[in-house]
Amino acid sequence: MNSVSEPVTLSRRVGRFAPSPTGPLHLGSLVAAAGSYLDARTTGGQWLLRIEDVDRPRSVPGMVDTQLSALDAYGFEWAGEVLRQSERSAIYQATLDSLIAQGLAYPCHCTRSQIAGVPGARRGIDGVIYPGTCAAWAPGDPVPATAAWRFRVPGGIFRFRDRIRGHIAQNLVDEVGDFPLLRADGCFTYQLAVVVDDLAQGVTDIVRGADLVDSSPRQMALIQALGGAVPTYAHLPVVINAAGEKLSKQTRAEPIPVDGEAQRVPMLWQALAFLGQQPPAELRRSTQRELWAWALAHWQIARVPGGSGAPAA
Ligand code: GLU
Repeated sequence: MNSVSEPVTLSRRVGRFAPSPTGPLHLGSLVAAAGSYLDARTTGGQWLLRIEDVDRPRSVPGMVDTQLSALDAYGFEWAGEVLRQSERSAIYQATLDSLIAQGLAYPCHCTRSQIAGVPGARRGIDGVIYPGTCAAWAPGDPVPATAAWRFRVPGGIFRFRDRIRGHIAQNLVDEVGDFPLLRADGCFTYQLAVVVDDLAQGVTDIVRGADLVDSSPRQMALIQALGGAVPTYAHLPVVINAAGEKLSKQTRAEPIPVDGEAQRVPMLWQALAFLGQQPPAELRRSTQRELWAWALAHWQIARVPGGSGAPAA
C-alpha cells in the first residue's frame, strides 16, 4: 500500500481524510479527498487517513481495502499509519469517563419514540432536541443497565470562520441539545470518535463536505471540554445527483473507476473542476501524474464555491 514514511510532527499543518467504509468511494468522496489533500500538501503539511468504522453495523466487510486501493490507485500519498476507529474503543471509553467525572456526560435511557413523544418537543437542526429527561443525573447516581450517554452541551454561541463558507454560528442548547457520545447498543458515536481522533492525530485543518458543517460546533464544544485546540474548518460543497440528493451509498452513488488511468484521470479532473479549480480541458487526457502536478501547482481554496451543492456534471 502506498504510504509515505515521514513521521508525523506537530509543528506542521495536518489535514486528513476520514471515509466511513459503508460503500465504495464515489465522486463526492473523491472531492473531499482531493480538497483535503491539496490543502495539506500545498502548505507543506501532512495528510493523514483515518477509517471511520466506529459504527460497526454500518461498516461493510472488505470495504476498507477497497477504499484504500482506490485512494492508492488515484495517487494519494498519506503519512503514517492508517487509524481505524474500530480498534480505538478503549480510548473513546477513557475520554467518556473523563467527561463523566467532570459532570459533562450523563446516562440516558429514553428511546427515540419517548423523546419524540414528549409534549412540546422541539425540532432542532438534527432531529428532536433532547428535552433533558435524564439530565438531573450526577456522578455517583445509579446507572441504568442499558443506557446511552449524552454530552451536556454548554450555553452560549459557538462561532468559527469557515475558510470557504465564512462566519458560522450556532447555539447548541437551542439548536441541537444534549447529544449522544455512546449509544445504548454500545457503539461510540461519530461526534465523540471524530474529536478524540482529530486530537490524537494532531489535525490542525479540517477540510470535508458541507454536510458536516452543522456538526462542527458540537465538535468544538467537545474539543474545549477536553482541553484541546480547535482546528480550522473548511467545508467543501457537496456533490448531488440529478434528484438533488447528496451522493452516498443510500442514494446508490456510482463508484469511481479504479482500473485504468484513462478512466481515473477524467474523474479526478471532474473533482478538480467541481472544486472550482478550472483545470485546462486538455488535462482530461493527461497522465495522472501530470494532472496532480497541475493541481498541486494551482490549488486555491479561494476558488472553491461556497454554495450548498451542485449536480455532478
Ligand atoms: N466519516 C465521515 C464521512 O465519511 C467524514 C467525517 C469527517 O470528515 O469529519 O462522511
